[in-house]
Amino acid sequence: KLHNTILELKGNIRVFCRVRPLLPDDGPGTDMVLSYPMSTEALGRGIELVQSGQKYPFTFDKVFNHEASQQDVFIEISQLVQSALDGYKVCIFAYGQTGSGKTYTMMGRPDAPDLKGLIPRSLEQIFQISQSLRDQGWNYKMQVSVLEIYNETIRDLLSSNRSSGFDSTRTENGVSVSGKQPYTIKHDVNGNTHVSDLTIVDVCSANEISSLLQQAAQSRSVGRTHMNEQSSRSHFVFTLRICGFNENTEQQVQGVLNLIDLAGSERLSRSGATGDRLKETQAINKSLSSLSDVIFALAKKEEHVPFRNSKLTYLLQPCLGGDSKTLMFVNISPDASSTGESLCSLRFAARVN
Ligand code: ADP
Ligand code: MG
Repeated sequence: KLHNTILELKGNIRVFCRVRPLLPDDGPGTDMVLSYPMSTEALGRGIELVQSGQKYPFTFDKVFNHEASQQDVFIEISQLVQSALDGYKVCIFAYGQTGSGKTYTMMGRPDAPDLKGLIPRSLEQIFQISQSLRDQGWNYKMQVSVLEIYNETIRDLLSSNRSSGFDSTRTENGVSVSGKQPYTIKHDVNGNTHVSDLTIVDVCSANEISSLLQQAAQSRSVGRTHMNEQSSRSHFVFTLRICGFNENTEQQVQGVLNLIDLAGSERLSRSGATGDRLKETQAINKSLSSLSDVIFALAKKEEHVPFRNSKLTYLLQPCLGGDSKTLMFVNISPDASSTGESLCSLRFAARVN
């Protein structure tokens, strides 16, 4: 059954699906049909997977096939990005199993300009537009923070002190087991989020941010060698805070753009986890299902939204409710051995859509 009826109910939540190309290391392709009712060939609304002769159709706000370029994808989100300059709080997530193209979609490949992802493209656009608004009296102050959530603990990816970049305090169910916990999340009455000890950098240009992103990526990969492929096991959260002031009209706006590369969504059974790995997987499952619960409750306009069930949803609370805007990419691998995971991802996305 299609999910068109749900589309009318939801407010500011959109889901885009992106299927990456089959890569040389992949096995045979999965049995998949994408429908293209829209004018451009790389963009449609429907995706149907076939497993054991059974058809599973889904409909999303947009579906990008393997031919969609980074620019094709960016065009479809550029308005959303711009709304952060108008004072909206925006979250863009990439969800999917490891290897499905989340990091490619968000960051892209820094070596080739054509392959740059949504984060660098969004920042370039924001700075370009903010410059052009100067003629109309607008001045903007921009601040960046980059963090990672691993096993329900926050790590500051812009910390100059690498060794203290980790929140080494052990936590259980989000509660500190021993000692004082750094990176405590607080929301003030104006809907601003404060994370204690987190590095916040004032930025004036997209170039400055790209060097910060490099630092963050490096900091993340330093963690990876020590922490067993941690990058696919952690949520990466890039936040740009925008304060605009118009000196002619004295108008003021405060927007936030959050760009989030989520941890791999693959299920427990497939990773065959034990010990630390098991704990890790449970933390990921818990935070991804919390995210789904929160978005679902928001879409249904339920009274109680369970923001506090995970660090990720609590951190992003002010940017998920109210008149904020949320977009989720569900990234799909096209190989046959991923069909099961792909179906899980599509079901997850259909639930929040
Ligand atoms: P994830 O972050 O979900 O684990 P990646 O973004 O690292 O996945 O993608 C896995 C591999 O697939 C990488 O080698 C990446 O360059 C490639 N890839 C992903 N999406 C695309 C795409 N749309 N076009 C070309 N290559 C892609
Ligand atoms: Mg990745």
